[in-house]
Amino acid sequence: MAKAKQDYNPPTTLPAFGRAPKIYVVGHKIPDSDSVCSSLAYAYFLKKKGKNAIPVKLNEVNPETKFILNYFKVKIPETLKNAAGKNLILLDHNEKEQSPDNTDKAKILEVIDHHKISFSLPEPIYFWTESVGSTATMIAKKFFQEKIEIPRKIAGLLLSAILSDSVIFRSPTTTKEDIEIAKKLARIAKIKNLEKFGIEIKKKKMMIAGMSPESIIHSDFKNYDMAKKKVGMGQIEICDFEEVEKRKAELIQKLKEISQKENYNLLILIITDIIKQNSQLLAAGKIEYLEKAFGKRVEENVLSLPGVMSRKKQIVPPLMETFSKS
Ligand code: MN
Ligand code: MN
Repeated sequence: MAKAKQDYNPPTTLPAFGRAPKIYVVGHKIPDSDSVCSSLAYAYFLKKKGKNAIPVKLNEVNPETKFILNYFKVKIPETLKNAAGKNLILLDHNEKEQSPDNTDKAKILEVIDHHKISFSLPEPIYFWTESVGSTATMIAKKFFQEKIEIPRKIAGLLLSAILSDSVIFRSPTTTKEDIEIAKKLARIAKIKNLEKFGIEIKKKKMMIAGMSPESIIHSDFKNYDMAKKKVGMGQIEICDFEEVEKRKAELIQKLKEISQKENYNLLILIITDIIKQNSQLLAAGKIEYLEKAFGKRVEENVLSLPGVMSRKKQIVPPLMETFSKS
């Protein structure tokens, strides 16, 4: 199902509040602000609907998310260690590689996401995807549709997640709806200047000084199965290339090491300049796939892609196609 029903009713299959088992609401493996804030907001929504929902994360939150939670005085959610035997609602992903460990031994009740559909499940469930800029946009929509009042904190979390995921509306994944909903949330959250607040959020993610090359590569990292080939892609968002320029050599060295040690066909670090709206890709492994996908030479493990900002929309699809054709 591609579009949400206008009159959304929460699935009746969910266990009721009380003695019923808990429902864990969780985003993807390396948490980002959209995953964490959407989980917190959706768990709140479900609680208002009488469900026993608990927001959880799968790993440590990044500095950006920490800043957002701190700003709106919301506690960092607990970490879900093992999903076996649990009821899960998966947000902001629908890819096995990004789900909790032992998800195959859990019961997935719902999936709400804005990425390409790659899940295949043994039974029908409530599965809602839309091509919008963030999962938070969809969660906010649920509150509005169901006329559930959004507290300032929750509005702040959802707004922050939209600004983060859409790179302050600069990412090509941004839709009119993201902007409209963000403006509505901003009024509730009492945030006057979205651009200023967005930059403040994004800056927190850009502090690469003092970070090891490994933690820079893994700070927002995703694994992909591309026609049975193992591909890994990290992404960092910065204000200007200068601060990364000095560290490029050690980052490339680390990419080479990791790709050999962990058998990656292709391992990439995407460095996105959110002000200039460009990306540079540092790559190791079979870089010929990258050259084929973008029709450009990779010079000393670096590929410049002007105007490219979105891993999901502008980098994954051409690579996926190249791998599946080879
Ligand atoms: Mn995400
Ligand atoms: Mn997202």
